[in-house]
Amino acid sequence: DVIIDAGACGLEESTVIDLTEDVPQLVRHLHGVLKNWVQLQHEYECFFFVADFHALTTDYEESQNIEQYTFDTVVDWLAAGVNPGTATIFVQSRVPEHAELHLLLSMITPISWLERVPSFKDQQQKLSDRDLATYGFLGYPLLQAADILVYRAGWVPVGADQVAHVELTREVARRFNHIYGREPGFEDAAEAAVKKMSKKAARMYGNLRKEYLEKGDGEALERARALLAEQQNLSIGDRERLFGYLEGGGRIILPEPQSLLTKTAKMPGLDGEKMSKSYNNYISLREEPDSVEAKIRTMQTDPARVRRSDPGEPENCPVFALHEVYSTEEVRKWATQGCRSAGIGCVDCKKPLIDAINEEQLIYRQRAQQFEEEPDLVHAILAEGSEKARNLARETLDDVKEAIGISH
Ligand code: SF4
Repeated sequence: DVIIDAGACGLEESTVIDLTEDVPQLVRHLHGVLKNWVQLQHEYECFFFVADFHALTTDYEESQNIEQYTFDTVVDWLAAGVNPGTATIFVQSRVPEHAELHLLLSMITPISWLERVPSFKDQQQKLSDRDLATYGFLGYPLLQAADILVYRAGWVPVGADQVAHVELTREVARRFNHIYGREPGFEDAAEAAVKKMSKKAARMYGNLRKEYLEKGDGEALERARALLAEQQNLSIGDRERLFGYLEGGGRIILPEPQSLLTKTAKMPGLDGEKMSKSYNNYISLREEPDSVEAKIRTMQTDPARVRRSDPGEPENCPVFALHEVYSTEEVRKWATQGCRSAGIGCVDCKKPLIDAINEEQLIYRQRAQQFEEEPDLVHAILAEGSEKARNLARETLDDVKEAIGISH
C-alpha cells in the first residue's frame, strides 16, 4: 500500500509549513507530522514530498527563496529520522506528471466541486491581504488530488480538517473512471479475467459481486476486493478491470484513496493557543537551549496560582500541556500532585520540561548540522527520490492517456 503526503507548501494549515516565508520551522511540525512519518515509513511504502507548486498558489510573488526553503525543509525531515532508504523523499516540481495529471483532471472537474471545498472560502477570508482570485488557487485541491492519484496511493495521512480534500480526490477519481474506464468489450474482458482465478475464488467473486449489485451490501464489496487483492495470477490490468466490474462500472484507472486519520500529539503554543508563527508563541525546531529556557521560564501558568502557596490545576496550565508532549508519566504525575497540593512551585515544574525539550532538540540539531555540512548528500537524496517517484507517476500517466485516447 502506498502512502503519499506533503509536508511543506504554501498554506499554514493544520500541520504543513509555509515554503515562502523565512520563518523557523516549529516543533509542532515535528510532533504533528514528522514523528508520524517516521513510524509510517516502516509500515507502508511512503512517498513524502515538498509541494513547491502549491507554494505558488498563495504566494506567487514570493518565489525567490523556495529552493533554499525546500532544502532546509528536507534537512529537517532527515534530522527527524525520515529515512531515504525506506521512504521516497522528493520535490513536486521535479515530477512534472503532477502538473500533467492536474491539467487532465481539470477537464472533467466541475467548478462547483472546487468552490464548495471548505478551505477555499476560509482561506480567502483569512488571507484577505493577498489576491487569491486566481485560477491556481481555486484549483489547489485539484492539484492535491493529482498529487495523490498520480501514485495511485491507497492512503493519505490527514488531520480532520483535510478529510474534505481526500473526499474530493475520491470523487474526481470516480468521475474519471466512470468517463474513461469503459472500453469496448469490457464485460467480455472481465469475464475472461475471472476465468484466470481458481474455480473456488471465481465462484466466491461471482457471489459477492451479485450480493453487492443486488443488495448494495458494502461488506460484500470489501470482501470481494480483498479476495481480488490476494489473486496472484491476475495481472494489474485484470485486477483493475475486476475491481471496476464489481461495482458494475468500468476499469479502475485511478483507485480511490482513503484518509488515514493519524493520531497526532496536540502541540499547543507557549500561551496555550495553537502554536503558530503569526502568534509568536512557538519553539522552533532548531531553537538554542538558552532561548528554549528563556521562553519556558516566562510562560504563563494557571492564573489561579498567584502565590507559591496557592494550589493550581494542571488542566488550566499551558506548561502542563507541554508536559503532556514531552514528559514521562512519572514526571507528569509529580507535576500534577505538586501543583494541586502547592507542593512545588511553577519554577520547579518547568525545570524538567526545559531539560526534556533541550534533550530532544540537541539530537535533532546535531543531525541537522551533519546534513547542512553535506548539501550534496541532500541533493542526491532528492534527485534519487524524484526519479523514483517520476517512474511511478509516468506509469499512471501512460494508463490515463491511453484511457482518454491520447497516448499516440
Ligand atoms: Fe502549571 Fe506546573 Fe505551575 Fe501547576 S505547577 S500551574 S502545572 S507550571
